[in-house]
Formats: sequence, C-alpha cells, structure tokens
Amino acid sequence: ADIAMYSAKDRGVGVCVFDTGLDDHSPERLGLLGELRRAIDSGELVLHYQPKMAMVSEEVCGVEALVRWQHPERGIIPPALFIPLAERTPLIHPLTRYVIDTALAQCARWQAEGRTLQVAVNVSARNLLDDGFVDDVLELLVRRGVPAACLELEVTESAIMADPARAQQILGRLADAGITLSIDDFGAGYTSLAHLKDLPIHQLKIDRSFVASMTTDRSDALIVRAVVELGHNLGLTTVAEGVEDEATWQRLRAAGCDLAQGYHLARPMPASELEGWYDATRGV
Ligand code: C2E
Ligand code: CA
Ligand code: CA
Ligand code: CA
Repeated sequence: ADIAMYSAKDRGVGVCVFDTGLDDHSPERLGLLGELRRAIDSGELVLHYQPKMAMVSEEVCGVEALVRWQHPERGIIPPALFIPLAERTPLIHPLTRYVIDTALAQCARWQAEGRTLQVAVNVSARNLLDDGFVDDVLELLVRRGVPAACLELEVTESAIMADPARAQQILGRLADAGITLSIDDFGAGYTSLAHLKDLPIHQLKIDRSFVASMTTDRSDALIVRAVVELGHNLGLTTVAEGVEDEATWQRLRAAGCDLAQGYHLARPMPASELEGWYDATRGV
C-alpha cells in the first residue's frame, strides 16, 4: 500500500493509506467510493480557499476553492486521492455540484460582509460533457443569489480536448451567462493552438511545473514568458500557479504575468482563516 503523507503545509495533517495499484472494481476502491457518496451528503467534504493576487496592484481578486475530505477515521484526504476515482464514475456530478454550491454560498456570505472575492471551482471533463451541467450551474447561481461574474470555472486542457466541439459549445453557454472561464494547468496538456484561438475562455493558468522551476531552468522561464505573451496576444488574462518564492514572483511580474497564486502568497485555507488573511492584506 502507498502511504501518502498529506503534509502540515496544506493545513491538514494526516496520513492516508491506500493501495493505488488496485483496479476500479476492487473492494477497496468500491468501498472508498461508497464512503465518498456518504461523505458528500454528510458534509465531510470541506473547501479550502487559496487567494489569487494581481501582480501589479497587489490586490486580491479571488480565491480558488480546493476540496478536502475530512474523513472521520483516516483524517484529511487530499483531492488527488479521491477526485481521480470519482471522475471515473457518475459520482463526480454530485461532488462538483456540492463544491460549486458550497463555494457560492461562501461567496454570498463574503459579499454580504463587504469582501469582494470571485471564487474559482475546478470542473472535470465528465462535468463538461454532462447534458445538465450548464443548467445546474445557472440554477445554483440563482439559488445562492450570486452574480455570474463572481464565479470562475477552471477546466483542464485534457477536459476540453476530450471532445473539443462539445466543450466549445458548453463553454460558450457558460461564458454567455457571464461566468469567467480558465484553462487550468496550461502547457501540461496538448491544446492545439487552433482550438485555443476559438475557445470562449478568459484566462490561462500556467502549469505549476513551469512556474516552480523558472528561476533555475532557463527553458522553463522561456516557456512561461512565451505563454504570457501568447495569452496576451489572444486577449487572455494570464495566471501563474505554484508561486513559491519572491524570486519567482519578481520574474513573473517582469514577464508581465497578470495574476499569481501560490504558497509565497498563501496556502489554501479554511474560510475563516482566509477571511483573516484577506482583511489583513487589505489593511482592514
Ligand atoms: P489544481 O487545480 O492544479 O490546484 C492547485 C494545487 O496546487 C492544489 O493542490 C494547491 O494546494 C496546490 N498548490 C497551490 N500553491 C502551491 C505552491 O505554491 N506549490 C505547490 N507545490 N503546490 C501548490 P490540491 O488542493 O491538493 O489539489 C490538487 C488537485 O486536485 C487540483 O489541482 C485539482 O486538479 C484537483 N481538485 C481539487 N479540488 C477539486 C474539486 O473541487 N473538483 C475537482 N474536479 N478537482 C479538484
Ligand atoms: Ca485549478
Ligand atoms: Ca492547476
Ligand atoms: Ca493540476
């Protein structure tokens, strides 16, 4: 069995033991999925929020919602250990719905308290290909009384390329509704530039793997600068994820990158902690 340490770094300390060599139908996997079904209903899934900051004004413009599973016996289970599993089953639908709804409810509370934060939610390929997805999202916005402009959806390149024509149509409906759309982990997948040009998206999130090594690896630094330029030429906002130190921050700023996210600014935090951090950053 693999032992995955979920470090104190991510605000949750715990050790999870899973056998990652099992196929989908193994009793362990089925057991975990069964537990996940229950966990969604019983509120064991919690969201942590990581801020995104504008590099020039140093204003906090929004947060990314990242799910964690607060398991009664296993401790905090990181998304990498259950999202890929859920993505292979229809369970990803109620899970994503729960994450969007929880993030929107939080956004509405923040708005009522004078904290203007856009919330970003990660969306899986399977969500994007689901017939009811757009209507579900629009219904949740109405139900929570949150303007569409306050919601951002992050979609990976591979999710789009699974069915580019269909993705383009779905993303078009979401964009028309006023939702901000980002391509996550950009550069790690294989979006053709021909498709990129036609996608109704607003942001490119440069994959962490390039950002993390841009101060030590010349070609990664060149790739980041090229992506920033490409994004700007296409009229897109560029976001760097995984900014871990001041040197990287300075390089990105010099490269003209618009927004940054990473441990150098703040780790993903529970809502209450994020509020304290945000208020301190704003000088409240
Ligand atoms: P992602 O969307 O690329 O999210 C960024 C990940 O990088 C997060 O890991 C975040 O905690 C981590 N991170 C942020 N800043 C830094 C940094 O400076 N250095 C390093 N090394 N890491 C940093 P997390 O929360 O464990 O999430 C992992 C992945 O799980 C996410 O990658 C996303 O693909 C998926 N995920 C998380 N929450 C959800 C969700 O609600 N729905 C779906 N479908 N996927 C989710
Ligand atoms: Ca993301
Ligand atoms: Ca990412
Ligand atoms: Ca990722």
